Amino acid sequence: MNVPFNDLYAQYLGLKDEIDGAIARIIADSAFIRGSEVEKFEERFGEAIGVRHCVSCANGTDALYIAMVGLGVKPGDEVITTAHSWISTSETITQAGGVPVFVDTEENGFCIDPEKIEEKITSRTVGIIPVHLYGQPARMDRIMEIAKRRGLWVIEDCAQAHLARFGGQMIGTFGDVATFSFYPGKNLGAMGDAGCLVTNRSDLARHAELFARHGGKGVHEIEGINSRMDGIQAAILNVKLPHLAAWTSARRSLAARYTEGLRGLSDVIVPEERPGGEHVYHLYSILSSHRDELRATLTAAGIGTVVNYPTPLPLLAAYKRFGLGVGDFPVAVSQTSRVLCLPIFPEMGEERVDHVVKVVRSHFGA
Ligand SMILES: *Cc1c(COP(=O)(O)O)cnc(C)c1O
Repeated sequence: MNVPFNDLYAQYLGLKDEIDGAIARIIADSAFIRGSEVEKFEERFGEAIGVRHCVSCANGTDALYIAMVGLGVKPGDEVITTAHSWISTSETITQAGGVPVFVDTEENGFCIDPEKIEEKITSRTVGIIPVHLYGQPARMDRIMEIAKRRGLWVIEDCAQAHLARFGGQMIGTFGDVATFSFYPGKNLGAMGDAGCLVTNRSDLARHAELFARHGGKGVHEIEGINSRMDGIQAAILNVKLPHLAAWTSARRSLAARYTEGLRGLSDVIVPEERPGGEHVYHLYSILSSHRDELRATLTAAGIGTVVNYPTPLPLLAAYKRFGLGVGDFPVAVSQTSRVLCLPIFPEMGEERVDHVVKVVRSHFGA
């Protein structure tokens, strides 16, 4: 039995008529950029997260950049973020004129370690960007307490965590603003690039509306950029959004099945479900000290896996200028050398989870 890492086509087939119809409608109306589907999506996604404003844009990376410009990041401003994420989180800090300051990850989880944030705060620090990596909520109680006490803004990078909750509260509602990606493989995926930011702050929403659309139409109050969600992507997302809650439950129950099945293997650490933290399993990521051998076995068995991400951000060639080393991020270094993402997607089904579990267990002779 082959198990692909993800199967976007299976999701499309389940909604084929609706998606085809939505695309045809956009073509018939020539509503290619902006238009009623985009407005509808902004309204509905904002409601789903429980925030007053949702501003769509071209992708999740732009959403981070737009949010930082709105928050007034200036040259030399330091922004604290996690050592373990996709590079969008840190490259947009630089893009906005700031300096990324990396913090190591937590021992029992994959997100920024709140206990290591304060030692990185200086007089130049302006904000914190936690990432809910793999769909696991970062410790927002501690992070918000620090941010409030030290007068810092918070952008939640929710690109991998649609509908995750922390302490019963929806992820994306803790900080000043939160950003989402609808890259095809994300928990809510378009058929191309798309993203948005959500916020309860009307000043940030208004800035984003203007800045992402050239600072206005005809009357330009400010200079901006061109970052728009197109009508076809919005129409597809409007078809998919009503299914997101059910897909999230499916991910959570497949993950629970993996966790149960992998129990008792001494060289496999399963992702932690923390009290109060509702993980949405964008990825099901295990840690194994023999990761590469395990991965080879799975590949040989026709099971797709991914290493997300092989290197902590501060140790990438892109950040050589900071002169940081492996000793500065011991937890992230250890995690990135052991992490392996197993297949998980809503349409996967229990049988295929059981098959992957069987192959992992037999690899370890269990
Ligand atoms: C996917 C992702 C982004 C960027 O989203 P794009 O839509 O691909 O630009 C940002 N941060 C994280 C953590 C991501 O996984």
